[in-house]
Amino acid sequence: MNVLVEADENIRNAMAEDSKENFNFNTRAIHVAQKPEPPYGAVSHPIYLTSTYEQESFGEYHFDYSRAGNPTRDNLEKSIASLENGKGAVAFGSGMAAISAIITLLKSGDHIIVSHNVYGGTFRIIDKIYSNFNIEVDWVDTSDINEVSNSIKKNTKFIFIETPTNPMMQLSDIKLISEIAHQNGLKLIVDNTFMSPYFQRPLNLGADLVMHSSTKYLNGHSDVVGGIVISNDDEILKQLIFIQMSVGGVPSPFDCWLTQRSLKTLPVRMERHNSNAVKIAKALEDSGKFIKVYYPGLESHPQHKLAKSQQLDPKGKPGFGGMISIVLKNQETAQKFVNNLTLFTLAESLGGVESLVCHPASMTHASIPKENREKVGLTDGLVRLSVGIEDSEDLLKDIYNAL
Ligand code: PLP
Repeated sequence: MNVLVEADENIRNAMAEDSKENFNFNTRAIHVAQKPEPPYGAVSHPIYLTSTYEQESFGEYHFDYSRAGNPTRDNLEKSIASLENGKGAVAFGSGMAAISAIITLLKSGDHIIVSHNVYGGTFRIIDKIYSNFNIEVDWVDTSDINEVSNSIKKNTKFIFIETPTNPMMQLSDIKLISEIAHQNGLKLIVDNTFMSPYFQRPLNLGADLVMHSSTKYLNGHSDVVGGIVISNDDEILKQLIFIQMSVGGVPSPFDCWLTQRSLKTLPVRMERHNSNAVKIAKALEDSGKFIKVYYPGLESHPQHKLAKSQQLDPKGKPGFGGMISIVLKNQETAQKFVNNLTLFTLAESLGGVESLVCHPASMTHASIPKENREKVGLTDGLVRLSVGIEDSEDLLKDIYNAL
């Protein structure tokens, strides 16, 4: 079968998910692409650990080869597409592979606008790899709509934003930027890793593509590395499926299964991440022990109002997620504080059920030059907390002890 015809078929399949699509978010998280499987009616799906498939005859098959398609991966893609209110989703072996696939939609000579504070790996792939392929970039403060407008050039194709940003927790107005993007014939891409579709659905606000490091909240248990791109644009989905199959950065069936299983608890996990982080951020701010506490749920956050209007749970109640950044005097003070924590594990990554702490300047954002980091406020004294779903009183006790 011609690969593009095949890609078309995959999109149709994703769109033709049964009437479960009409249910609310919490129900869809558990039931979309989760129908008990024949022949035994297994409520928890089997994992299709197969690289290849028997074909009925020449060109007659459901799946031909697991780089091109796999039932377990298909199910994961359908579930996440449904939660992001997209027509389809395309899964990759990591968040970076997802970002790479998005950038390969471009051509040499194209220009992109990217938030000036993004995950270090996002900076690195554009600055160190795609710059070799003549992809031009402007790193822009996308929280300032004028800066976004003023950065658009004749050859601009994409605006790529992270909101909230990692780790400065800076927000960009998805609806406003999507309007500007569309007035200028550009596509808006949103890295929705920090909020998950439970607290932010960028496609509803006008974004063209949403991507996740599904390593984080979507999987939520610190045991899978994965990435995914979701869209409502048939043409883009077709191209991404083609890239997924051609470049081959696909996730394993087992990782897809684990991630889809985790999606079933996404709503309850996100509720707890949020309620714990709201309590902890407030207590940290009230303690007066930190130079700064960055959390969009605090009234002191400069974009608290925007957070309340674009970060909403499926019933429309504002939510702010589980990520908090705090600023201590310098690296030495930060290190002492982190060494004294016992419940927060010093580790890369975020969004798992267990609380983690990270020093972005030496860990997740070390690939960004110090000068660039400090321009956005990412100092050596900044520490990022990924608040887990443990008991909030225990977490707070741990922080106070460390202080
Ligand atoms: N986007 C954000 C906001 C991230 O935090 C990360 C990783 O930390 C990525 C993308 C990259 O994802 P992965 O580590 O799954 O490749």
